[in-house]
Amino acid sequence: MMPDTETPLTSIRARIQAACAAAGRPPEAVTLLAVSKTRGPDEIAALADQGQRHFGENYLQEALDKMPALAGRDLIWHFIGPLQSNKTRDVAAHFGWVHSVDRAKVARRLNDQRPDALPPLNVCLQVNVDDEDSKSGVPLAAVPALAEQFQEWPRLRLRGLMAIPRADAEDGNRAAFRRLAMTLSQLRNTMPALDTLSMGMSADYPVAIEEGATLVRIGTALFGPRPPKA
Ligand SMILES: *Cc1c(COP(=O)(O)O)cnc(C)c1O
Repeated sequence: MMPDTETPLTSIRARIQAACAAAGRPPEAVTLLAVSKTRGPDEIAALADQGQRHFGENYLQEALDKMPALAGRDLIWHFIGPLQSNKTRDVAAHFGWVHSVDRAKVARRLNDQRPDALPPLNVCLQVNVDDEDSKSGVPLAAVPALAEQFQEWPRLRLRGLMAIPRADAEDGNRAAFRRLAMTLSQLRNTMPALDTLSMGMSADYPVAIEEGATLVRIGTALFGPRPPKA
């Protein structure tokens, strides 16, 4: 622990606390997910040494390659990338959370493949909150029906909703975050156990927290710019 040294992690924690205070929310209302795609095990270990426990990965093989070096540290791994059916088995076996479920077929496979020795897999539905043609995610109007289906899947624990709003919105994505928050709040009328709003990244997480985010997914602001894709 390096409590007296300012690091990207300590300054992000401080900004999260400030955003919570400004919104009248307790600081523990928001979980920081460190998005560690493209980052090596050494960089992840350095954050873990400062007390960071939740890490998010987008690319399955890259994540599986890194995990052994970090085993025994009691980290919680979140899969946040596009999820095709042929990857569900490894995701079900190696992750605690998945944020990118957007269809029943993928959910059913995750349920069937979740090892019995592990607790139920925590799931967020990825929502296409701006209704963009090119984006993956459940259309807003289809969220309730898909959420209802989770009653059929005891090895999954539906926790809430996730979105990646368009990058160019003039309002810092506030309207999109508000739509997602409203959708979760409506679902909670019949599913009060839902407790997670996964929204906000490096560029917009303070706004997301003002709009009710319970989990922010931050990569660049923690680790610096990502290397260009090979
Ligand atoms: C890469 C990624 C992030 C983190 O983005 P930054 O802008 O680097 O903070 C968050 N969520 C998802 C789904 C991502 O793919």
